[in-house]
Amino acid sequence: MTPQVDVLTSREVPLGGPRAMRVRRTLPQRHRSLIGAWCFVDHYGPDDVDETGGMVLPAHPHTGLQTASWLFGGELEHRDSVGSLATVRPGELNLMTAGRGISHTEVSTTDTTVLHGAQLWIALPDDSRHTEPRFEHFAPPPVRGPGWEARVFIGSAFGATSPVVTHTPLLGAEVMLAPGRTLDIEVEESFEHGVLLDVGNLEVEGEQIKPSDLTYVPSGRATLTVTALEESRLLLLGGPPFGEEIVMWWNFIGRTHEEIAGFREEWQQQITADGEVVDSGTEVAIGRFGLVDLDLPPIPAPELPNVRLKLRR
Ligand code: MN
Repeated sequence: MTPQVDVLTSREVPLGGPRAMRVRRTLPQRHRSLIGAWCFVDHYGPDDVDETGGMVLPAHPHTGLQTASWLFGGELEHRDSVGSLATVRPGELNLMTAGRGISHTEVSTTDTTVLHGAQLWIALPDDSRHTEPRFEHFAPPPVRGPGWEARVFIGSAFGATSPVVTHTPLLGAEVMLAPGRTLDIEVEESFEHGVLLDVGNLEVEGEQIKPSDLTYVPSGRATLTVTALEESRLLLLGGPPFGEEIVMWWNFIGRTHEEIAGFREEWQQQITADGEVVDSGTEVAIGRFGLVDLDLPPIPAPELPNVRLKLRR
């Protein structure tokens, strides 16, 4: 018997602080940590930036993962400690590989009135998680058929292939569907998949979902069937089951509690001078996470919990 799909509903989380913009998070959650190597799915907007203040994320660190920024509306300015300065625009992938360590800032541009998008993380496997940090940009050309349009930003689908480098087999695509359109998407049988609905009203394998829901579809099928009950836009994510246990805490991915505690300590040391968090990252020695120049103080790490961080599978 074919295993059933599982609809993961989102929870609202403030991004970057208690007064910050709110996002709808579907991964990780208690019963599911990963879909392939995808380990973090935040969906946000469309938000009126005049009301929410938009996205203001001062310098913060990452390890052991790639961040994939995908916008539906608005623009972000990305800066990082490997010297990248990029404008993140709708329909264009910005993929930042943290590897051994990076720090970055993300701020919505002054021209942005409505911000709408997804922030996705990809866990790096053990043999490449200490790789050098880097940043890539890719604007996938749309592929179209009757009543559908797709942009494949990672991996291969719909006859299109992204040149972007990942460290495990992976799929990431935006798909737009006309009202009433059913699409049988050819997929890798070894992949498990996630379908995040951005806008519209969608059935995934016969299961109706609402915007911001993430549908988990287990591996073992050659086609994935979606039906748009209204005009819909979705993100299709996939990959073979990750198969490694990870520890995720704050902005870090590692393999043990001690490793994460070490990353935290290194970040705190990097952003502290004379016992205080510095005004900007430029006044302290360059450490694991490098420096990123933005006229805002860096984000200090929260305290570690009193219990040991748990392994996620
Ligand atoms: Mn980040």
